Amino acid sequence: MIDKERLAQTFSRLVRIDSVSKEEKAISKVLCQILASMGADVAQDDAGKKFGGQTGNIVAKFKGNVSVPPMILNAHMDTVEPGRGVEPVFENGVFSSKGDTILGADDKSALAVILEVLWIIKENSLPHGPLEVVFTVSEEIGLLGAKHLNFDLLSSTFGFALDATDPQGIVTRAPSANHLVFTVHGKAAHAGAKPENGINAIQVAGKAIAEMKLGRIDHETTCNIGIIQGGLAINIVPERVRVEGEARSHDEEKLNQVTKAMVDSFEKIVSDASQESIEKNLPSLEYTVEKEFTRTNIPENHPVVTLASQAAANLNRTMVCKSTGGGADANVFCQHGIDLGVIGTGMMDMHTIKESVKLDDMAATGELVLEIIRLHAQG
Ligand code: ZN
Ligand code: CA
Repeated sequence: MIDKERLAQTFSRLVRIDSVSKEEKAISKVLCQILASMGADVAQDDAGKKFGGQTGNIVAKFKGNVSVPPMILNAHMDTVEPGRGVEPVFENGVFSSKGDTILGADDKSALAVILEVLWIIKENSLPHGPLEVVFTVSEEIGLLGAKHLNFDLLSSTFGFALDATDPQGIVTRAPSANHLVFTVHGKAAHAGAKPENGINAIQVAGKAIAEMKLGRIDHETTCNIGIIQGGLAINIVPERVRVEGEARSHDEEKLNQVTKAMVDSFEKIVSDASQESIEKNLPSLEYTVEKEFTRTNIPENHPVVTLASQAAANLNRTMVCKSTGGGADANVFCQHGIDLGVIGTGMMDMHTIKESVKLDDMAATGELVLEIIRLHAQG
């Protein structure tokens, strides 16, 4: 039923519109226009204003012609860099970029699939319940659109996000994550003339990091130090260094433990160093721990899973529940009491210039979503 030619055209059109994170105005205009032309009630919130983006999230509502609970279809409008001037190449049924940019299948394959599904529903007057289409901004830079989404606009308690690779998989488990920022204060001095007057903040931080267990902690827990910034010149004992990292786990208790171990390591090294220091209160430590996102854990008997599995079975396909180590908009929706299963569109090698997607996979995802909508409408 999916019109592959139209799907391919929509996808090509969307990837040609630059929409790197925070710069989604142009693409959101096009999407709002299309959604309104299909008869949706289209709103855009002011999320962008809250974090310095060009525009807000789109919430487009289709009333439906069957009285069942409303359901969300979600995708994000932004892409990572290098994402400007994308020229899609279509060869042997596969879309890729010309090789100097990403393709933007993450997540424009999802935008195109959702639009195609909505067109099919409209053209064929298919029975469907109320649909809330949510296209977010700035997912790629910390789920900012979703975090600032006006959830008052939504009444669904469940739905589907299209933002993964495997069209026969549904992501139901994602970890919680903490974002840690450490600042070590030392004391500046001329490194050649008077090094004994200085306290090297970089060295102190280095010791603290060296003591940490990083990487994979266990099957559901990881942590990382990802950014270190400090120092002004090679002849100055560095006064200050800033270190950023993260911890993730599917288990809140483990997340707390790993986070605490990272903090403890800084506290211990800084305190040891200040015992032997030339200055009473130096080096010193400041740190913050912020929840980056909260875990999702959708049970296998949840309607999100049963709907997707039944739809796949009706199409003679399989559907497996998957766990991911990454965070997505679905994590934020979950915090607001909305369970989103994340299904794949066939996109591959995301965030690289080798990114690609098969038209057949996008079409298959469209068929799956159509079948989900059809099943849901039966109540
Ligand atoms: Zn994505
Ligand atoms: Ca991504």
